[in-house]
Amino acid sequence: MNSAEQAPPKVLQDRFGRTIDYVRLSVTDRCDFRCVYCMAEEMTFVPRSQVLSLEEMGRLARVLVELGVQRIRLTGGEPLVRRDVAQLVRDIGAIPGLRELNMTTNGARLDRFAGELQAGGLDRINISLDSLDPDRFRQLTRTGDLNQVLAGIEAAREAGFKRIKLNSVILRGRNQDEVPALVDFALERGLDISFIEEMPLGEISEHDRGLEFVSSQALREQLSDRLTLVPLAEKTGGPSRYWQVPGSDSRIGFISPHSQNFCELCNRVRVTAEGRMLLCLGHEHSVDLRAVLRAHPDDDAPLRDAIIGAMAIKPERHDFSLAPGEQLVRFMNMTGG
Ligand code: SAM
Ligand code: SF4
Repeated sequence: MNSAEQAPPKVLQDRFGRTIDYVRLSVTDRCDFRCVYCMAEEMTFVPRSQVLSLEEMGRLARVLVELGVQRIRLTGGEPLVRRDVAQLVRDIGAIPGLRELNMTTNGARLDRFAGELQAGGLDRINISLDSLDPDRFRQLTRTGDLNQVLAGIEAAREAGFKRIKLNSVILRGRNQDEVPALVDFALERGLDISFIEEMPLGEISEHDRGLEFVSSQALREQLSDRLTLVPLAEKTGGPSRYWQVPGSDSRIGFISPHSQNFCELCNRVRVTAEGRMLLCLGHEHSVDLRAVLRAHPDDDAPLRDAIIGAMAIKPERHDFSLAPGEQLVRFMNMTGG
């Protein structure tokens, strides 16, 4: 039976029996920040002709949903630097069968876009916030303006998203002392917050990832002096676990790709802005979907086959190393964090 006659399966499954129903789609590798853990100061970005068009992204999203994907997160790079990203949100938000459309952003342009994105069908939004001190915020992001991001967070609150989560990458000696203040900031506003262990994606020279690494366990101990943290049972399929403070709705998450490995529950793949499907954050296994999209503009069957075929090379687990020379060459902005 050739691919055109084959009925599409309802689900994507890999060799280890895991169902893939969550895709993180990078809409651009570009960004207006240069966060020290994510990028080098000087970056070369992908030429625009190699980046998927918004139409190609919309088509890919539709086919993924037809194959059983239920949640899509738009990320990057910074999704809000891509022109017409609000149109992409409207297009993907209207795909029948998609349960949730989310976005991760640095927040710097949210004061302009929050209302439009929410009205366009974006359900949840994650906003990165590593410091509440303007100078330190500038050092960590290299170019970021804290006040602009705080205005973006307020705009998101006013827009009425289902849930807003802050993401903070914590580095020893840089912003670890701000963990309690960041938790207070989230609790006071009814937001969720996740603390992320730094991952070794891309060679950087700004700091030694090994020396500045701080584990989620260390952060929980730091917080337990002043807060009661009650673990939540809910599993996300990702490397995050959530806690709650009694009397508050906010969830406090710890994303621990190093210290805890939940690969056996992994439900996700990533697609880069160039249309490369990455099967695992910690490996280079990938499939070029752009070539298939462009070779068959009017026939979805080869694209479906390529996506189903990609499941066969999803690795069983990741294993990060912080040792120099053993880090992945791919930067987080390329990966679609
Ligand atoms: N620009 C958007 C933002 O910053 O939220 C979306 C893309 S960014 C790559 C997604 C998330 O990855 C951010 O929360 C960021 O802090 C995190 N991140 C980037 N590089 C990382 C690294 N090396 N280790 C851990 N988290 C990282
Ligand atoms: Fe840009 Fe996000 Fe990377 Fe920071 S973490 S440089 S905001 S893509």
